[in-house]
Amino acid sequence: MTEEKAAPASGSILVVGGGISGLTTALEAAEVGYEVFLVEKNPYLGGRVAQLNQYFPKLCPPTCGLEINFRRIKDNPRVKVFTLAEVEKVSGTPGNYEVTIKINPRYVNEKCTCCGDCAQACQKEIDSDYDFGMKKIKGAYLPFEMAFPSRFVISPEIIGTDDAQRCKDACKYDAVDLDMKAKTMNFSVGSIVWATGWQPYDATRIENLGFGQYPNIITNMMMERLAAPNGPTRGKILRPADQKEPESIAFVQCAGSRDENHLPYCSYICCMASLKQATYVRERYPEAKIYVFYIDLRTPGYRYEKFYEKIKEDENIFLIKGKVAEVSEDTTTKNITVVAENAVTGEKIHQTVEMVVLATGMQPTTAAAKLPADLTYNDDGFIINDVASGGMFGAGCANKPADVVSSNQNATGMALKAIQTLVKR
Ligand SMILES: Cc1cc2nc3c(=O)[nH]c(=O)nc-3n(C[C@H](O)[C@H](O)[C@H](O)COP(=O)(O)OP(=O)(O)OC[C@H]3O[C@@H](n4cnc5c(N)ncnc54)[C@H](O)[C@@H]3O)c2cc1C
Ligand code: SF4
Ligand code: SF4
Repeated sequence: MTEEKAAPASGSILVVGGGISGLTTALEAAEVGYEVFLVEKNPYLGGRVAQLNQYFPKLCPPTCGLEINFRRIKDNPRVKVFTLAEVEKVSGTPGNYEVTIKINPRYVNEKCTCCGDCAQACQKEIDSDYDFGMKKIKGAYLPFEMAFPSRFVISPEIIGTDDAQRCKDACKYDAVDLDMKAKTMNFSVGSIVWATGWQPYDATRIENLGFGQYPNIITNMMMERLAAPNGPTRGKILRPADQKEPESIAFVQCAGSRDENHLPYCSYICCMASLKQATYVRERYPEAKIYVFYIDLRTPGYRYEKFYEKIKEDENIFLIKGKVAEVSEDTTTKNITVVAENAVTGEKIHQTVEMVVLATGMQPTTAAAKLPADLTYNDDGFIINDVASGGMFGAGCANKPADVVSSNQNATGMALKAIQTLVKR
């Protein structure tokens, strides 16, 4: 490449969403020389991956991969991170966008050493969204041990109360600032990548599967938190009704997905997620019996197929081709009976287990709330990329249901598309 033909590394890119996809887009673009603004609505980066216990197929803790990305961000002055932030307005055309961002107050400044004294002093407890309400946390909290930025947050729920003052009084470092206000900032950027990710499908809407009615029916994301060492049970998988170690568990596949009444598409990851979670159970309870009820088991690609082959060999794991039609609870034992028709033998199955995990699917966050920009969505709310017009692109699970590897590949591609918009200006 001659000097004249080399792309100029100038211009800025806005990346919205600091999950694994947004982190990837931001870093790939910044590491070739572009300035990137990374806007995340949570008080921490990492998105849903930060809530997982282990990654399939390697079964390593996701904090490893996230840590590497956080280090790359710390080492790269071209990435400017804004947490507790959301885009309010976008105007302009590819190459020339004006963006307004609202940054909500954290009430804790950069002097925070994470000593935890404010949390000790705070009396009010709030539900932990990170743990899907299965744990209470103090009104002053660190989202999780490895959180980036590594800084406490004071919940708006305690602002204006004695507890807020107690937090301020307890802080030896003058890091609590109760007068912090929301502020808006304006940026000029050339391209925007929307990596706004997914949310778990609301399982209470699948009425025949009993979530919200029977305590021993949980979702797959709740299972990730139960199995995680930093979760509500410190990694012990216990059934919610009585904290008993379950001796039998049923996984209900396609809970909401591939169903015209809910999510008409395949969520892509929930077969692999259940097979992975079966290994969580088997590790902790070698005698436990696991029943996986599925329509099809979708484990695409060589590595996932190998994972599935290995699980199939386990004599305590029973893979049953049959869609679960209903569930019921024994009011005394709190056990759950799952009813399905075996699609191979035609036999009607009534399987009683101590706990049920619903393999709920992924819904784009944009299904519920559209973004303040001129974007096109499909019927399910995923962003459709108009690569020819350029300028704005959806990446990762904002674009389609995906695992981490595919999200990263897609996010890298979108970094390139964002750069091409700047170069073409
Ligand atoms: C039960 C379960 C287990 C899984 N296990 C695995 C596994 O083992 N291996 C694997 O490869 N994949 C796994 N996955 C899939 C994995 O979670 C996704 O591939 C991954 O989360 C996709 O990352 P993302 O960045 O696209 O989205 P997200 O993780 O959802 O990140 C999106 C980010 O954008 C932020 N955001 C959203 N809207 C806005 C907005 N308007 N403004 C600012 N910020 C916003 C969110 O707060 C979030 O931080 C699993 C999925 C499930 C359901
Ligand atoms: S805000 Fe102050 S008291 Fe709370 S963790 Fe940070 S330094 Fe410690
Ligand atoms: S990945 Fe499996 S459980 Fe999830 S929707 Fe597709 S087939 Fe159903």
